[in-house]
Amino acid sequence: MTKPSAPITQDVHTIPRKLPEGGKVNLVGLTRDQLRDVLIEAGTPEKQAKMRVGQIWQWIYHWGVRDFAQMTNLAKDYRAMLVERFEITVPEIVSKQVSMDGTRKYLLKIAGGHEVEAVYIPEENRGTLCISSQVGCTLTCSFCHTGTQKLVRNLTAGEIVGQVMVARDDLEEWPEQNTPKNETRLVSNVVLMGMGEPLYNFENVRDAMQVVMDGEGLSLSRRRITLSTSGVVPEIAKTAEEIGCLLAISFHATTDEVRDKLVPINKKWNIETLLNALRDYPRLSNSERITFEYVMLKGVNDSDEDARRLVKLIRGIPAKINLIPFNEWPGAPYERSDWERIESFADIIYKAGYASPIRTPRGEDIMAACGQLKSATERARKSRAEIQAEAGL
Ligand code: SF4
Repeated sequence: MTKPSAPITQDVHTIPRKLPEGGKVNLVGLTRDQLRDVLIEAGTPEKQAKMRVGQIWQWIYHWGVRDFAQMTNLAKDYRAMLVERFEITVPEIVSKQVSMDGTRKYLLKIAGGHEVEAVYIPEENRGTLCISSQVGCTLTCSFCHTGTQKLVRNLTAGEIVGQVMVARDDLEEWPEQNTPKNETRLVSNVVLMGMGEPLYNFENVRDAMQVVMDGEGLSLSRRRITLSTSGVVPEIAKTAEEIGCLLAISFHATTDEVRDKLVPINKKWNIETLLNALRDYPRLSNSERITFEYVMLKGVNDSDEDARRLVKLIRGIPAKINLIPFNEWPGAPYERSDWERIESFADIIYKAGYASPIRTPRGEDIMAACGQLKSATERARKSRAEIQAEAGL
């Protein structure tokens, strides 16, 4: 994709000069249709809107440009209008910690001064960015640090996409003019496993992933995006139909009695209901297996009997099982299972025919490992019960 040169002229007189309600519109996170609508509202002739969308899209998501003045294939007046009415804003890096193992944790400030965390995990042949979808979380999974942080608000689609753009900035991964395309991507995979339950922010997550998957910009294949849910059953099929990325389930227990404690949403949609929803999952296939995440908690869910029960429960579902050695956090009520226990557990699952990789803890020294994320942003007033009531729990 070559950086465009000569601008296409535009009849400037049709561009109204009045600013939209509430100040400038942030273009980051708008889907193509939404971008088209705001450009037309700003005076772009309908017949040119599709082309303008394409041009602006490439500047923002392929070249990583944040300054309209640099969009040289647009007429000066048109760029002036864009500057007046729109902005290209991504979350601000408040702090960046780099672990001894190369993992990077970003503390990001978003609108309203709220803060969320994102984590970049470099590996040999890929680089995974773990992004957040809520400030705090609607849910209270007892093994998860985020679960101790009340939900403050959902992230907008722009704030979700913005995490990917900020990581590319930090990794200097935007393509350069006149340099051959670098095939190896540093941010090659995205997982929605950071702060928050993504399916309790469905529309914003969907729109954001549409932007991230778009082939003219960030162009991340849907098979390189995994959405992890604790089991919001009514939204699961929609994930396949409207997002199309890979699915992971925060499973973590093999009885309702234990899962009610570890993943309280289980009281609303228990193991049987969840597994039935997965058996009906529209994208169920051996080439796109559902990942069952299973945190290894000492003396809680790590017995050989648990392992045998787990493979029995998921029989018939094309699946892989990710065993996650528990990553401790201040005040955590659990301990990590002993390695022998984890290996014995993995062995039973493996012998039952399931890939059961043990997830290597990354970034523990900077509290960036799974389940360790939490930001200082706290919700002032509403009690946990009120937040749960809002979610109908
Ligand atoms: S595991 Fe996920 S859904 Fe559960 S509290 Fe943590 S962030 Fe929320």
